[in-house]
Amino acid sequence: MKDHADIVVIGGGAAGVGAARTLADAGKSVLLLEAQDRLGGRAHTVHIAGMPIDMGAGWLHSAPKNPWVEIAEARGFAVYRSPARWGEQWRDLGFSKAEQQAAWSAFGAFMQAMHTPPPSDLATDLIPADSEWAPYLDALSGFINGAPMREMSVTDWLAYEEASLDVNWRVCDGYGALVASHATGVPVALATPVSAIDTSAKQLRIETPRGAITADAAIVTVSSNVLASGAIRLPRHDAILHAAAELPLGLADKLFFTLETQGDIPDNAHILGHPRSAITGTYTLRPFGRPVVECMLGGEGARAMEKEGLNGAAEFALGELTGLLGSEWRKRLRFVAGSAWGRETHVLGGYSQARPGQHGARAVLREGVDPRIRFAGEATSDGEFSTAHGAYNTGVAAAKALLG
Ligand SMILES: Cc1cc2nc3c(=O)[nH]c(=O)nc-3n(C[C@H](O)[C@H](O)[C@H](O)COP(=O)(O)OP(=O)(O)OC[C@H]3O[C@@H](n4cnc5c(N)ncnc54)[C@H](O)[C@@H]3O)c2cc1C
Repeated sequence: MKDHADIVVIGGGAAGVGAARTLADAGKSVLLLEAQDRLGGRAHTVHIAGMPIDMGAGWLHSAPKNPWVEIAEARGFAVYRSPARWGEQWRDLGFSKAEQQAAWSAFGAFMQAMHTPPPSDLATDLIPADSEWAPYLDALSGFINGAPMREMSVTDWLAYEEASLDVNWRVCDGYGALVASHATGVPVALATPVSAIDTSAKQLRIETPRGAITADAAIVTVSSNVLASGAIRLPRHDAILHAAAELPLGLADKLFFTLETQGDIPDNAHILGHPRSAITGTYTLRPFGRPVVECMLGGEGARAMEKEGLNGAAEFALGELTGLLGSEWRKRLRFVAGSAWGRETHVLGGYSQARPGQHGARAVLREGVDPRIRFAGEATSDGEFSTAHGAYNTGVAAAKALLG
């Protein structure tokens, strides 16, 4: 590993890859340091039963303005444009048409009310106290934000809504594979966790177990939870560590099952496990037309399932699926993979959400305190946080700020 670079980028997720690519393309000497033995961070594609499976980011959200779409096309990754069917319940299983309409209008009323944030900035203050759909709203908030309504900042959520477009595509060979491929040709050191940045001299000294690297500047892209944990010693950065702590990562996880006989199930068919429980999964049957069922857990559901462990979580999901589809489905489904992002040492969660009243922490983090050290990553985005394209955009912006 070299011991000097103009700019060191710390963390090889979507933000770090975007930053390092931009700097390398501008002719800078750059080194991307990644703690794990792979690139991609929370965009992670694995291959199971011959199929690429995304354990983290899977959807090209806000597709018409998502920079990864153009990168995918330039790099020869096919983009899958079939619409998501999250708003439908396949065959109305366990969720009648009338109930679906009532639940969606409760969510619609909440989204409308968000335009006038309450003084508390707390999402639960916009939900009628006697709402029969409160658990459903908690489940949706869990999938979207990684946390239940009682922890959500209205201002923060509204900023996300205003920045996003409801068009969602996918990468056939995996979002994680795409992110990692974008670093091709960039100097990278894998399995190299940064433990400290010494700012006392003119040049930064970046400490790792494989030796120190000096640099004129650094871009730090680790998750807000990793930053707040103090895993990287950063003297005189109390304001930054405090801001990171106000942007905790909610929890989101996935479980995958292979599907033996596919029958007449349409591609991307969707079912919500239990419309009246905050602890439930959302299931996509035959994503990409493949013989797979993809379960997503978020918020309370992901917390409960990380406590259960992967086998317990898979059993829970099988219980929801067979309860709706019939017990014969147990023979058709085989649990093959699952995530527990809260236990990933170098990530520590799903995606960031601001604590009520703390949306401004995103700008504090982004602006930094030492002009030589910039912070990027999904948590530093004003409205595109919790996404891989938002992370990428912050990485590119941090690189351009240093180049500028
Ligand atoms: C289950 C799940 C589903 C999701 N679904 C979607 C989706 O469909 N669409 C979407 O757009 N987004 C989705 N997301 C969110 C998306 O994955 C993230 O917002 C995005 O990937 C974050 O990128 P990042 O670069 O900011 O951070 P990360 O991906 O966390 O990258 C930070 C990197 O820093 C490394 N690191 C940590 N500590 C150190 C250290 N000390 N030294 C060096 N390196 C270090 C980490 O290993 C990691 O690789 C999902 C996330 C999860 C968990």
